[in-house]
Amino acid sequence: MQSRFFTIQNHPQGLPDQNLFNLETAALPELGDGEVRVRNTWLSVDPYMRGRMDGVTTYIEPFTLGSPLEGAAVGEVIASRDSRFAEGDRVRHMGGWRDVAQLVADQVEALPAIDVPEQAYLGVLGMPGMTAWTGLNTIAGMQAGDNVLVSAASGAVGSLVVQLAKAKGVKGGKVVGIAGSQAKLDWLESLGVTAVSYRNKDAQQLSKDLKVACPDGFDVYYENVGGDCLEAALNNLRVGARIAVCGMIARYNDDCPVAGPGNLAMILIRRARMQGFIVFDHWDQYPSFLNEVGPLVARGEIDYRETVEDGLEKTPEAFLKLFEGANQGKMLVRL
Ligand code: NDP
Repeated sequence: MQSRFFTIQNHPQGLPDQNLFNLETAALPELGDGEVRVRNTWLSVDPYMRGRMDGVTTYIEPFTLGSPLEGAAVGEVIASRDSRFAEGDRVRHMGGWRDVAQLVADQVEALPAIDVPEQAYLGVLGMPGMTAWTGLNTIAGMQAGDNVLVSAASGAVGSLVVQLAKAKGVKGGKVVGIAGSQAKLDWLESLGVTAVSYRNKDAQQLSKDLKVACPDGFDVYYENVGGDCLEAALNNLRVGARIAVCGMIARYNDDCPVAGPGNLAMILIRRARMQGFIVFDHWDQYPSFLNEVGPLVARGEIDYRETVEDGLEKTPEAFLKLFEGANQGKMLVRL
């Protein structure tokens, strides 16, 4: 049996284009003891993959040039030589960016039994959802009544953060989301979130707009973007604010270091705490996340959205679109 998969041959400089990606075909080796073969049905593309293309070890190993790229995927077991999996099982694993994956069974997990579409386990009930829940609760320690600011608020992570914050903010705290298009702002407003655009604004203007949106300032800033969003957020912190640094997508395509915000002293002035986190360090909490958020999703109480590209060939395009803001909610590829 053959597998089609994507590789890169070079480390990109700056924002990559589609020429970076090669679609290759290779015959799979015979299935070994303890291995499973999975026909992928959905692939995840995620901003963190950009960092893995740089050839530098961070909190995760870089992609190997010329080898199949990796990423989260769900699919159906089509052959198994491991007693834990049988043909027809629906599973999740990291053998994405390809149509058929052959994996050691230890690297494959059965999908949880919550009654949701299987691709939800790549988004709202997968790594991005777990990231939203962890950052808001464990890292930022959000409390009822807190005013919460979220950047990239209509994305996979951000759109769950704002909804969890709304649900928890029962004592009248305000939730403000930053996003980049009118459709995204409209969606956020429909969720009861005060939406602020960052497009065509410098940090000073964004600061002023955030002040209008929430004159009392923010107790929590959920950071997905960095750059001007961070600078504007720092100007609008309340005393004792907590910043959960989840991501800084505005910086992922920089090819040299860029000076940080000039107003970092606001952390001192507002006696704020700023903490980065990587969701995989908290993965032992995934069952608790599923227990809490899974039923909300199954009952339709979370408005989660997906932006879907069809066909393996579209995977690089889907990935690159993350940096244009072309997605609402989770960006996925359907095979
Ligand atoms: P999203 O679904 O939010 O997609 C990315 C969004 O980022 C785009 O839709 C766009 O929205 C916004 N964006 C892209 N480029 C820029 C830019 N230059 N300036 C401002 N906004 C930009 O992605 P995810 O939800 O998967 O990830 C969100 C963040 O969380 C990322 O930074 C990611 O790296 C991080 N993350 C961190 C994890 C961790 O363990 N710490 C785990 C998972 C994700 P818009 O149109 O609004 O600009």
